[in-house]
Amino acid sequence: MQERSTALIHHPYAPPEGFAAPQPGVFKASTVIFPSVAAMRNFEWKDKTAYTYGLHGTPTTYTLEERLCTLEGGLQCVLLPSGLAAIANVALSLLRSGDEVLIPDNAYGPNKALAEGELTSWGISHRYYDPLNPQDLAAKISSQTRLVWLEAAGSVTLEFPDLCELVRICRARGVLTALDNTWGAGLAFAPFDLLPGVEPSLGVDISVHALTKYPSGGGDVLMGSVITRDAALHMKLKLTHMRMGFGVGANDVEAVLRGLPSLALRYRAHDETTRTLAQWCQTRCEFVQVLHPALPDSPGHEHWREVCQGGPGHAAGLLSVIFQAHYSQSQIDAFCDALKLFKIGYSWGGPISLVVPYKLASMRSTWPGHLKQGTLVRFSVGLEAAADLQSDLSQALQAALT
Ligand SMILES: *Cc1c(COP(=O)(O)O)cnc(C)c1O
Repeated sequence: MQERSTALIHHPYAPPEGFAAPQPGVFKASTVIFPSVAAMRNFEWKDKTAYTYGLHGTPTTYTLEERLCTLEGGLQCVLLPSGLAAIANVALSLLRSGDEVLIPDNAYGPNKALAEGELTSWGISHRYYDPLNPQDLAAKISSQTRLVWLEAAGSVTLEFPDLCELVRICRARGVLTALDNTWGAGLAFAPFDLLPGVEPSLGVDISVHALTKYPSGGGDVLMGSVITRDAALHMKLKLTHMRMGFGVGANDVEAVLRGLPSLALRYRAHDETTRTLAQWCQTRCEFVQVLHPALPDSPGHEHWREVCQGGPGHAAGLLSVIFQAHYSQSQIDAFCDALKLFKIGYSWGGPISLVVPYKLASMRSTWPGHLKQGTLVRFSVGLEAAADLQSDLSQALQAALT
């Protein structure tokens, strides 16, 4: 007869098999138990045929990986503890001392900070290219260039680059492309098949997604994914992931799995409300420029039409405005402070609308010629009713600027 302490650990009860519920079960593990020593020696984690250690995969992480592949049209997926960690995993895996990475000047800021603050000290150089000028990218690709980052739409300023042309240039030069696909979320366009129906298909090599944003949808999870359509490239990324000890918690994976079924509905709702607000902003004299890829005069609109209008025609939930140059920074700050429904905070993709004033001059290597002078404010539009958000913007403009 075992002591009760032992019996509680080695309990014989196993619940019946066949439990079926809409939400998959959550498996948490560092240790995975093998049936025998032989199994321990033979089990292989790299091809997902078995389990060896929690860090290398559980039914919960495999399930999310497969669903994300479906979302983005890829074949393999690696999960990381944040979107930025996903970006770093790509850099760590593919770049070595002496290599160069090219990054669009409007890239997600921390991607640039990673290059400036970490990659440089490892002997990996970087250059920024003008995302609206494919010839600038073509001119900057050198024999040291190993990786080109793409982002559509660009962070904060929301220009939509000529993705097809940028990818064609990289392909012709044999350079890998990695797209930060957080804005498109796998819904606005197909990263691995930018022009569906056109053969041969044109697409990026790697799609990185901050699941923190739309897939989570709650503003309560940090996670990232790296999706590919090439087994050898995936294995390179996965081995780096394994050697670095990157992993994700099962509870966080569960939260993202729970968000996925409503992703398309939420994305469409964010999109529709954002377009309504963008059009309204265009009627306001306080703004010299409204940046939103679906607006005909927004930078890169024709490229948005090419890859997004051909698909479902989506445009996410981000919108930026540039205020008339005569408004002072403190007036713009007062406008942000006066907003009631829009909260002041980073990130996006959750139910709550957010606002951030940016100091653009310090974020770009040159002031983009297509942007008017003035202070830029970015809104990330949540799931509140458009009319309420519009009233909020209106009252804050009134309160702060008159
Ligand atoms: C938020 C974001 C990331 C990083 O995601 P985290 O999970 O916050 O690290 C990367 N790229 C883009 C475009 C983002 O908006």
